[in-house]
Amino acid sequence: MALKITDDCISCGACEAECPNSAITQGDEIFVIDPEKCTECVGFFDEEQCTSVCPSDACVADPDHQETEQELVTKGKRLNPDKDYSGHYPSKFKS
Ligand code: SF4
Repeated sequence: MALKITDDCISCGACEAECPNSAITQGDEIFVIDPEKCTECVGFFDEEQCTSVCPSDACVADPDHQETEQELVTKGKRLNPDKDYSGHYPSKFKS
């Protein structure tokens, strides 16, 4: 499930630099997450980095973009073709 940023965003920008997939950009009023790029940090970290750093709890799961771990891995491979997903890789699903 990709994440989304709610209206609680205060546009501090803390999340943008932490995203391993460059999925976060500044929108017209608040920051936004591209669901085509968000892998819930699967393959990089065992928890969502944007959620971890957001001071206003504005990065939340988007029920309109539900995905399995395998679907997120497939997306991650497309975004990061040089990354090795064989064997162990960080994932919120494994913790
Ligand atoms: Fe980026 Fe991870 Fe947040 Fe998705 S969950 S937008 S991949 S930092």
